[in-house]
Amino acid sequence: MRVVRRQHRHTTGAELLLGRCYRLRMSRLLLLCLCGMLAVALALGFSFSSNYSRNDDGVHMNDILQFPVADLTRDKLTHNPRRSTVAQIKRLVSQVNSGRLWYALLRPILIERLPGTKGSQRVREHIYSHLEYLSAGWSLEIDSFESPTPKGLVTFSNLLAVLDPSAPRRLLLACHYDSKAVAPSSKTPNGPLRRFLGASDAAVPCAMILELVTALDVHLKLLKLEKSQVTLQLVFFDGNEAFEEPSSLDSLYGSRYLADQMSHTPHPPGAQHTTLLHALDLFVLLDLIGAPDPMFVNHFDDTVRWFNELIRAERKLHNLRLLSSHPIEVTYFRKDITLGPVEDDHVPFLQQGVPVLHMVTTPFPSFMHTVEDTAEHIHSPTIENLTKVLVVFLAEYLGL
Ligand SMILES: [Zn+2]
Repeated sequence: MRVVRRQHRHTTGAELLLGRCYRLRMSRLLLLCLCGMLAVALALGFSFSSNYSRNDDGVHMNDILQFPVADLTRDKLTHNPRRSTVAQIKRLVSQVNSGRLWYALLRPILIERLPGTKGSQRVREHIYSHLEYLSAGWSLEIDSFESPTPKGLVTFSNLLAVLDPSAPRRLLLACHYDSKAVAPSSKTPNGPLRRFLGASDAAVPCAMILELVTALDVHLKLLKLEKSQVTLQLVFFDGNEAFEEPSSLDSLYGSRYLADQMSHTPHPPGAQHTTLLHALDLFVLLDLIGAPDPMFVNHFDDTVRWFNELIRAERKLHNLRLLSSHPIEVTYFRKDITLGPVEDDHVPFLQQGVPVLHMVTTPFPSFMHTVEDTAEHIHSPTIENLTKVLVVFLAEYLGL
């Protein structure tokens, strides 16, 4: 056992004063510390509660914080396709059904479909009901708006489909479903009047997109369940065609409207500096497709690596003998030819910095904007081949 000896001594007046000052300083310091800790605790508490609150769109703020905004641009630039094995490619391509594409998907679109008319509404309903019937569970929206045109005020309706609206990034696949106002004509003086049906412009591209998501339905359903970082968005534009001579005001009604809408929609919801346009990895536009022996060239340097993927898919499918009426390895996608840009629905997006892959037949089909643009001039093996190329492209891009 140890005895602790206490030492007692007297304190002087000066020592007492110093002691009191010291205690005062210490208690002030302690108070400051307490205030600081209280402030930190309040800040943490506020942040915690706001992380777990819901915003207007019903999206959990905590989910949004999993996707740092700054990563949108970095991730789209560093995104790499996931290579499919030969067995996977064969299985994917076997799901493309050219009979379904031609009869169930294309035929109902081959009617006159001027913006704001019954024909337009019927085609929109056809596209909507088909997407609704798929098992992937698309979020569908018909976005209608009015715009002045040379023919007066016209109501236009874009049809939008997003696989997983909460995904941070999107691959966008687009076409236009409206037809052009072309005067009807007949070959013989007393023959029946024939109307412009715009088979290649752009009924076939719309049917191809519907076939793509139908062939990939089960894979897309899984992609959505996996909460993938990149999802698929489809856009069926209205009002691509001009009512008179195409101009900046008379054409691209639907795409100008949507690009503006997306540029004003924060993404992720609640973001202050990024919009839905930033979410777009790549804007893939299909137009004027269906004539035999089409040629597609690359229009944009910044997306050349995705154009190369189309070449790669075409070559791969040719070598696996999975294409028909396809004489040489690379028939469609030509890197050795350079052509100027083509005005189309991608322009309003391109002007806002969205990367674009424009799949448009160049030179344009000889029957473009005439009543000859009908199913009779569409080459079925070509659209089946191109759909297969796009199935591989999509599957590898999205990692299906
Ligand atoms: Zn056209």
